[in-house]
Amino acid sequence: MSQKSRPVADQLVQGGRPAHIDGRHVNLPIELGSTIVFDTLAAFEAARDARYEPGTMYYGRYGNEAVFQLEGMLADLEGAHGITMTSSGVAAITLALMTFARPGSHLLVADHVYGNTRIFCVNFLRRMNVEVEYYDPMIGADVDALIRDTTCAIMFEAPGSGTFEVPDILAITGVARARGLPTIFDNTWATPLFCRPLDLGVDISVASGSKYLSGHSDCMLGTIATTEEHFAAVRETVMAVGDKTGGQEVFLMLRGLRTLKLRMASANAAGREMAAWFAKQPQTKRVLHPAFESCPGHEFWKRDFSGASGLFGVAFHPCHDDQIRAFVDALHHFGIGVSWGGFESLVLPVKPVRSAGTWDEEGQLVRFNIGLEDTQSLKDDLAAALPLLNA
Ligand SMILES: *Cc1c(COP(=O)(O)O)cnc(C)c1O
Repeated sequence: MSQKSRPVADQLVQGGRPAHIDGRHVNLPIELGSTIVFDTLAAFEAARDARYEPGTMYYGRYGNEAVFQLEGMLADLEGAHGITMTSSGVAAITLALMTFARPGSHLLVADHVYGNTRIFCVNFLRRMNVEVEYYDPMIGADVDALIRDTTCAIMFEAPGSGTFEVPDILAITGVARARGLPTIFDNTWATPLFCRPLDLGVDISVASGSKYLSGHSDCMLGTIATTEEHFAAVRETVMAVGDKTGGQEVFLMLRGLRTLKLRMASANAAGREMAAWFAKQPQTKRVLHPAFESCPGHEFWKRDFSGASGLFGVAFHPCHDDQIRAFVDALHHFGIGVSWGGFESLVLPVKPVRSAGTWDEEGQLVRFNIGLEDTQSLKDDLAAALPLLNA
């Protein structure tokens, strides 16, 4: 399915719609539906037997033309054997984990994973008698020592949610491959435009489609990209659980993907410009941005990524929680809310949760998502509010 050689810009324009359009709109319509009917029982039975295979029209829950077009387009971008869409990024993560976790098995999870990955591990997997062990994300090849006979998978991401360390992906996948263990990697931050995890030895690359991939804060989706080896098993889990993607969401994501290259180029440039600006402010202790040397794992980002998105952190010098509140509330161009990767700038204080180690950085951590606004407007807004953090 993958067509690595086609330039990304062409994939984004030509993918996800019929190759030949004659007398039709350039975009597929919003495809809604549950029942699909057949002329003969034999045709129905053939569709039923092949219902897990991409492209088979059998019943709404298993996909339709728009879903299959979107999955094919994303598979090209990820260099994957195939993609299975899910209803959210969290669903992509949990369904990937459920594919491999068994009662009595042991799961290795990087300590800086996305908060809801941790919630699923604690609230669900542990109840299913899966032993979840968090490890230092910067451990590299030493993860080998943590692997047991019962280990079922390694779950990790780059950069870490909230704290932005970049692990040595090649070291982790090298160990996992040598031990015959599947790796599940959350690629939401970089998107396949800036990182292709499967090219780095990852088996399953999951992402939130609610962020940059759709890019307009108007829909919720998830994607699971897999190698050929794991494609059928992952798809079976998604189908068995009955997770599905809505027609409106699929339409919005296909539309968002058309401009992904432009939006990521803007996020890369504006994010770095704003992070460099923050680095010069007296209230800043350290910028947590993978493209900056102050970020642990910066060398791995340089090796494995071709750009940075517009989400990064700033550690401010120690101050009172009330000062952080006043600063955040004083901003006009930054919305206060979760998620990111849309067109608009966002701000959120972060308190990292750790199990394997501790987050001992002194000071206050704040996460910024840089949107498509004028960067001077953002700087003026921040400059007016930053003095609220002064001792
Ligand atoms: C937001 C996010 C998710 C979850 O995606 P939803 O679409 O909101 O469910 C997963 N991983 C990371 C790293 C995220 O930031």
